[in-house]
Amino acid sequence: LYETRREGSLGRVNLAGRVPPGLKNKNLRIVVTGGAGFVGSHLVDRLIERGDSVIVVDNFFTGRKDNLVHHFGNPRFELIRHDVVQPILLEVDQIYHLACPASPVHYKFNPVKTIKTNVVGTLNMLGLAKRVGARFLLTSTSEVYGDPLQHPQAETYWGNVNPIGVRSCYDEGKRTAETLTMDYHRGLGIEVRIARIFNTYGPRMCIDDGRVVSNFVAQALRKEPLTVYGDGKQTRSFQYVSDLVEGLMKLMEGEHVGPFNLGNPGEFTMLELAQVVQETIDPNARIEFRPNTEDDPHKRKPDISKAKDLLGWEPTVSLRKGLPLMVSDFRQRIFGDSKDDIS
Ligand code: NAD
Ligand code: UDP
Ligand code: UDP
Repeated sequence: LYETRREGSLGRVNLAGRVPPGLKNKNLRIVVTGGAGFVGSHLVDRLIERGDSVIVVDNFFTGRKDNLVHHFGNPRFELIRHDVVQPILLEVDQIYHLACPASPVHYKFNPVKTIKTNVVGTLNMLGLAKRVGARFLLTSTSEVYGDPLQHPQAETYWGNVNPIGVRSCYDEGKRTAETLTMDYHRGLGIEVRIARIFNTYGPRMCIDDGRVVSNFVAQALRKEPLTVYGDGKQTRSFQYVSDLVEGLMKLMEGEHVGPFNLGNPGEFTMLELAQVVQETIDPNARIEFRPNTEDDPHKRKPDISKAKDLLGWEPTVSLRKGLPLMVSDFRQRIFGDSKDDIS
């Protein structure tokens, strides 16, 4: 079904006279929604490096042209300012669908817009995949597990999510996006992939997006206290962005639909994270406790056995190795220089 549709709808396939032998072929035409954001821009770098042609579709809500400026002028790169809530016509082989604010501060800013992005935006991208016979990858989230009652979380766990809470626009939105993705797959034969991404950090994160890693790093660099919410005993597992990009590409190229957890199983309390930030940036950084936010999940750690077995993927960058790579980028953006040591 997939190959027939490709032949019918894609000029490049007809010109070649045959369907390319598998998607491992280079020189694909790929759309990355949300490609001006943190994860998307790193993914675009890798796809361009591999030889693909990339179209980024982004409304710049949380993304920045700065993240992509090094590709301007490359004939294999195109940037379209567009909101995925509106339909769009493109001719592509693959769709990496990332468009959606990821930080709680950003996705709570306009919750109705967030859920529209997740539901209508995903529907439009699936409609596009259906029309042109493209393979579609959804970047879902560990938030689909809510405040999990199973630890660590495997893909078989259905989650513990508040449907009417302040985070629901994001976690229920992503759950609906997963449902749409599976229904287009089962009902219409669309080739789909689903990644459930756990907390990811690295260069190009928005400096003031309110996420814990960006907050702590920016605070330590600015000599401000590290703000630990609640008692700081809640846990998260932090993945470096290059590991995630590797996982997303392996998932897209592989044969399995998923969902797959993509995360680093190294689990830290927020107090332990603060300690790693102190060791990396400023041993004298003070910690200040603040009230926690509503519905904050108590713990989160991926079981990545499925991705290891079926995709041959696992993360390689530990928090202590990855954090310094992000610090130099933050230092440059905050102070406009790249000094290695400011302490
Ligand atoms: P980000 O906020 O840096 O990037 C999101 C991008 O989507 C931005 O460029 C933004 O401008 C764009 N966007 C938002 N709404 C849009 C719309 N309606 N139309 C077009 N573009 C729109 O976030 P990120 O960390 O790069 O996250 C990328 C994806 O990965 C998101 O779907 C997010 O849910 C998922 N994810 C990320 C993490 C993480 O820790 N970074 C964890 C789980 C899931
Ligand atoms: N869509 C799009 N680009 C396309 C094809 C479809 O944005 O190339 C949108 C379309 O406007 C619709 C959604 O995707 O809102 C779902 O499309 P589908 O064809 O599955 O559903 P239908 O249009 O039949 O309701
Ligand atoms: N957090 C914190 N200090 C901050 C920002 C966040 O202690 O300055 C905590 C937050 O309460 C949560 C954890 O860090 O328990 C991760 O929050 P983040 O917003 O980074 O991601 P998510 O909640 O989506 O996993």
